[in-house]
Amino acid sequence: SNTIPSKSRILVIGGGPGGSYAATVLAREGFPVTLFERDVFPRYHIGESLLPSCRPFLKFIDAEEKIKNYGFADKPGGAVKLNQHKREGYTNFIADSPDNGSWNVVRSEFDELLLRHAAECGVNVCEGVKVKNIKFNDDTPVAAEWEAKDGAEGTMDFDYVVDASGRHGLISTRYLRNRHFNSSLRNVACWGYWKNTSKYAPEGFPDRNNAPWFEAMTDETGWCWFIPLHNGTTSVGVVMTEVASISKKKAMNGDDTSLKAHYLAELQRAPGLIKLLGDGELASEIKSAGDYSYSATAYAGPNYRLVGDAAAFIDPFFSSGVHLALTGALSAASSIAASIRKQCTEKEAANFHDAKVGTSYTRFLLVVLGVYKQIKAQESPVFSDINEDNFDRAFNFLRPIIQGAADADPKMTEQELQDTMDFCQNVFAPTDVTTVEHTSKKFGAEAISPDAPIMSVANVMKLAGSDEDAKNVMLKVNARKPLAEMYGCNSTEIMGGFYMRMEQGLLGLVRA
Ligand code: FAD
Repeated sequence: SNTIPSKSRILVIGGGPGGSYAATVLAREGFPVTLFERDVFPRYHIGESLLPSCRPFLKFIDAEEKIKNYGFADKPGGAVKLNQHKREGYTNFIADSPDNGSWNVVRSEFDELLLRHAAECGVNVCEGVKVKNIKFNDDTPVAAEWEAKDGAEGTMDFDYVVDASGRHGLISTRYLRNRHFNSSLRNVACWGYWKNTSKYAPEGFPDRNNAPWFEAMTDETGWCWFIPLHNGTTSVGVVMTEVASISKKKAMNGDDTSLKAHYLAELQRAPGLIKLLGDGELASEIKSAGDYSYSATAYAGPNYRLVGDAAAFIDPFFSSGVHLALTGALSAASSIAASIRKQCTEKEAANFHDAKVGTSYTRFLLVVLGVYKQIKAQESPVFSDINEDNFDRAFNFLRPIIQGAADADPKMTEQELQDTMDFCQNVFAPTDVTTVEHTSKKFGAEAISPDAPIMSVANVMKLAGSDEDAKNVMLKVNARKPLAEMYGCNSTEIMGGFYMRMEQGLLGLVRA
């Protein structure tokens, strides 16, 4: 393993997608970066379905070809069956371009590719090195106490730190103590890997392909996932409320009250998924995770940035995890670079990151809470009184969010983005939309109670004869906000510096 210096200008904690990406961008900008990763890669991780937005992110660090040529399972879209009485919705990634497809990845392999890429780009990657404590000078972190797997220990000083330590969330949970669990998404997940399953064949697409399938369970307690992987296995998981999981486990009779028995019993509540499993057989042990939807009251402060799961996590219904990790990583890296280069004050840079993470998080929170309303109301379909065409039309409105384009597509305009947000707020949010704000602080999960009345897609569509009308209906209900205000800082100022280059680089895919 690499030597650990006594000082590195920048420390990145964690070698998952968030940490690798932030470190890579900073190293490519010429800054000395040390990355500490507790494990030695490859290491297991859940989170296999990627959004198409990962492509421009990967391209920006010259890693797209590596991932593309590796042989992961091609993902041309995703199928979402929200209601047992309606056909599934299909979000087609490659409708406009074959280059917009994504992949289902075996995370141990994907994460290792990104970590090795970081090293190739000049990051001092130290595996098997855990950050035990962080030393602060007032509110500013200044050094990390580390411990290596071989027993060695030490302290490393730094100017800036990116916390990408995943759910562990060292800075947020231990020092800031600002992590809040989302009470309306108190869910648990269990999953396993199957062999010889069938595959989803989207309507109108003759070939079976690797598009993942997400399905609401008949008893309204949660949903299941089905994600084919390139190694011949399919990842199959169940997400349900913690309450339902506990009471169901208690109610299990017979000898077998194991997690596996619980898992297999719950899968039966997803008839579409059972069909896809076909003659497949379970080929792994069952893994589980709990308590996993949370956000923090701040994602940045003097000389530190929180990234990915270390910052916030949303129930994985729309596979947003890696997308949000990469978005936050880029914003952390660019705001640190802007700060070092004095293109803005550190306070402005930190605010920028805080707002960027909060905004991206909130977009997904909205759509995830929205689908949960439908998952929990199987007998009153949100889409009940509109026809199938309208269903697709409604689903299309969500595309900028659920395909990640809102954070990464060069063609996305601010206006389109606003329209999408407005649509979501009207469809999913409480009817009192004036209380809805764009950042997670003002617009915490608690603001959207699961019982809040919703103005449904059906209502919006009924009011609107055409897409144009639909947008106008939404515009009338919403007060608009300029981007700078939304970000809580003069974003043009920051963007005038390094961030502009980054954003142009990312969006225009040309490095300055
Ligand atoms: P991680 O990938 O968790 O990486 C953090 C790294 O930090 C780890 O390697 C860890 O070893 C290291 N670390 C921790 N503490 C320390 C320390 N003190 N010192 C040094 N190193 C440390 N996302 C998707 O995109 N698609 C999906 O389909 C999807 N499905 C999911 C299903 C479930 C049930 C769950 C729970 C999550 C799912 N996710 C999914 C989310 C996804 O797993 C995460 O969002 C993603 O891995 C976040 O990346 P990260 O880099 O922030 O953190």
